[in-house]
Amino acid sequence: TKARSPDPEQLAADLKAGKRAALARAITLVESRKADHRRLAHRLIQDLLPLTGNALRVGITGVPGVGKSTMIDTLGTNLTAAGHKVAVLAVDPSSTRTGGSILGDKTRMARLAVDANAFIRPSPSAGTLGGVAAKTRETMLLCEAAGFDVILVETVGIGQSETAVADMVDFFLVLMLPGAGDDLQGIKKGVLEIADMIAVNKAEGEGVTRAKSAASDYRAALHILAPKSPVWSPPVITVSGFANEGLDHLWEQILLYRTRMEASGEWSEKRSRQQVAWMWDMLQQRMMEALKSNRKTADRLKELEASVRAGETAVSFAVDEVAALMGLDE
Ligand code: GDP
Repeated sequence: TKARSPDPEQLAADLKAGKRAALARAITLVESRKADHRRLAHRLIQDLLPLTGNALRVGITGVPGVGKSTMIDTLGTNLTAAGHKVAVLAVDPSSTRTGGSILGDKTRMARLAVDANAFIRPSPSAGTLGGVAAKTRETMLLCEAAGFDVILVETVGIGQSETAVADMVDFFLVLMLPGAGDDLQGIKKGVLEIADMIAVNKAEGEGVTRAKSAASDYRAALHILAPKSPVWSPPVITVSGFANEGLDHLWEQILLYRTRMEASGEWSEKRSRQQVAWMWDMLQQRMMEALKSNRKTADRLKELEASVRAGETAVSFAVDEVAALMGLDE
C-alpha cells in the first residue's frame, strides 16, 4: 500500500494508547523533510503537550568504546524490570556523513531491543547538529506522550553534540574510562563543566583499582570548578555496565538529584529555560532556512557572497541589502 497521510486524531489516540506503531509513525513525521508532514507533527505535539514532561530525561555521553551501549542495555533492563518504560534516543550529527548511525543501534542493545517496555530510536539524520537536536527534542515529547517515563539520550564526545544534549535533558551523565585519569590534561574541561555526574566505567574484577584511582583524579578535577547548583555537587562514582555493578547506586543518585532540584525550584526553572532556549534555536533555524530557500534572497545572496569574496562589497553593506529584501529595514 502507498504511504498515505495519517489521520492526526487517530494517530494521537493510538499514540496515547501506547501503540508502538503510532509512535514510530509520529516520529517519522517529525523527521520528514516534507513541510506538510512536519506541520502535521507540530500540530500533533501541540495536541499532546499536556501529556509531555513527565519523564526523567537523562543524557549519556562518553568516547566510543567507553561502554555506553552496554551500560544503557543493562541500566535500561534494570529500569524496565522495576516497572519503568524506557526510551533510548541518540544525537549523532555524523550519522549524516556515514549514512548510518552508530548510536542507538538496536544490535548494540540486545536485551532492550526485545524488551516490550523499551523503545530504541537511532539518531535522526538531519544534517546539522541543530536539526538533529530539534528532531530529538520533538521525539522525546512524543515518547513522553506515549507513556515512557525514562528517556535516555545517548551521544558521543565529539564537538558540540554534548552541549546540545545537555541542553535538552534534566541530568547529564558522563562516562569515563579508567586509566584516562592518568592524563588529566586529556580531559576536555568543557565536558566536566556540563556533567551532573561522572561514572568511571569498567570497574569490575581487576579493573576496580584502576577505576577507583581514576575516580579520585576526576574528583580533584571537578573540585576546582565552581558548582553549577548550590544543592548539587556532581559526584564521581565507579560502575560496570557489563557486570551490572554500581548501577543501582547510579540511579539513586539521579533520583536524589531530582529530589533536591525539585525542592530548590531549580528543576522546573531549568526546564522552562530549556523550552525558551529551544524556541529561539528553532526560530533561528527557521529564519536561516527561509533565507536560503526564498528565491528572492537566495539568488541575490549567491551574488553578494561572490562579491564579498572578491572584496568588492563590504559585509555590512551586503547584509543591509539582504535585510531590506527580507523586509527587515531599520
Ligand atoms: P560504546 O562505544 O561507548 O557504546 O561502548 P560499548 O558498549 O560498545 O563497549 C565497548 C567495549 O567495551 C565492548 O567490547 C564492551 O564489551 C566493553 N565493555 C562495555 N562495558 C564494559 C564494562 O563495564 N566492563 C568491561 N570490562 N568492558 C566493558
